[in-house]
Amino acid sequence: GSTIGILGGGQLARMIVIAAAQLGYKTHVFCPESDSSASHVATETTKSNYNNYANLDIFASKVDVVTYEFENIMVEPVEYLAKKVGVFPDPKVLRICQDRVQEKRFIQSLDVPTAAFEPIDSLDTLKTAIQKVGYPAILKSNTMGYDGKGQVKITDQVDLESAWKKVTNETGAQRAILEQYIEFEGESSVIVARTIDSTELCFPLVTNKHRNHILRQTIAPAPLPPAVHAQAKEIATKIGKGIGLVGILAVELFVVKQADGNYKLLVNELAPRPHNSGHWTIEGCVTSQFEQLVRCICGLPLGSVDLMKRITEKEYLEQPAAQQHPIVMTNLLGAEVETWEKHLSIKGCHLHIYAKGDIKEGRKMGHINQTN
Ligand code: ATP
Ligand code: MG
Ligand code: MG
Repeated sequence: GSTIGILGGGQLARMIVIAAAQLGYKTHVFCPESDSSASHVATETTKSNYNNYANLDIFASKVDVVTYEFENIMVEPVEYLAKKVGVFPDPKVLRICQDRVQEKRFIQSLDVPTAAFEPIDSLDTLKTAIQKVGYPAILKSNTMGYDGKGQVKITDQVDLESAWKKVTNETGAQRAILEQYIEFEGESSVIVARTIDSTELCFPLVTNKHRNHILRQTIAPAPLPPAVHAQAKEIATKIGKGIGLVGILAVELFVVKQADGNYKLLVNELAPRPHNSGHWTIEGCVTSQFEQLVRCICGLPLGSVDLMKRITEKEYLEQPAAQQHPIVMTNLLGAEVETWEKHLSIKGCHLHIYAKGDIKEGRKMGHINQTN
């Protein structure tokens, strides 16, 4: 059988490996850690830095296709690999998605709205930009940020110099983005899948609840009007097409309630890979986000994104009573994983443990999917 190469060894890679194995594929994980979450289940692991080109050469010769589990990876080694073997999504997707300014410019070029923003490369440009963007705003490292790292909310009480120092120190990046602070009603996300022959399908829109900037819970499908679901899928499909996606891509959205009571969606950021807010699909959908990725990059047809409920997505959205019983994904963060056994006896509760070594505060150690 064919072998799928995966850059990165975290829980996303682990769950890609499991889905790939189910479809009969072998997997080869390439990551710097020796004892990674994914290496426990992969067919083969190469422990190496991403910019070790000799190891990349060997890796490329042993795999049939390559994907990656995070967008903050160095793009040059990925471009190097793409000359030797199919890499999906294409490295040019990575270039856009790992740079917040480029990402927002790209989204706006498709006539899809985002928060107003200004690129920042010094304390001086920050001082000028805050006049344009206005208070409150949010200063984010342009690259390398995740789980809210390298971000500061800027109010008129905040000293700009210390904010600039904090953001650059946390990530080492010397460029940032200043975004208008959005007073949203909630946060949602939608995952689009697109195949090599340009067929595409979106998973149901979901609502995400964060705690300390880390995803806590996903409610699926999102308890929002059908028109909002349709708009979100339209946005995600447009972005998938526009960026030339092969694979899956998550679109994070701010849901803003307008004065007339209607909702407006703004794109926050993109992730060209499986997304934490898609973990509910493992038991919640006919095809999981991980299987869908494998299908996309291996030239297979897309799988159904129907709910694994005795109800269709349309019926769910039209019946308020059904919305009392969503599928709920809850992350097991840090020490929460220690009490994993208690979930085993709950009806409709599906436990997923990532087998990571050290428990650290806020670290994603596993998740549970409650399907009924
Ligand atoms: P992730 O772990 O999702 O990759 P990240 O570090 O890349 O996170 P963002 O998703 O950009 O960062 O921001 C993290 C969270 O901060 C958002 O989910 C949202 O709650 C809040 N946030 C970000 N940007 C804004 C904004 N412009 N206005 C209001 N809140 C925001
Ligand atoms: Mg991010
Ligand atoms: Mg985010």
